Amino acid sequence: MNVRAWEWGTVMPSYEYVCGDCKKEFMIFLSLKEREANPKVSCPHCGSDKVNKKFTAFFAKTDRKS
Ligand SMILES: [Zn+2]
Repeated sequence: MNVRAWEWGTVMPSYEYVCGDCKKEFMIFLSLKEREANPKVSCPHCGSDKVNKKFTAFFAKTDRKS
């Protein structure tokens, strides 16, 4: 078996934002390197850069509701 496990650095943390203009929420994925570069985030819906970060989550989060 040669199963490639997820390694740290390949997992893409997701960042949730809410737009200050159109109030829509969106999520972006940035690698840690990209995050360190402090990129400018703009709303994919209206293009506004007045976005507010909601919280940091991880792509591999589990959501179990039984
Ligand atoms: Zn917007």
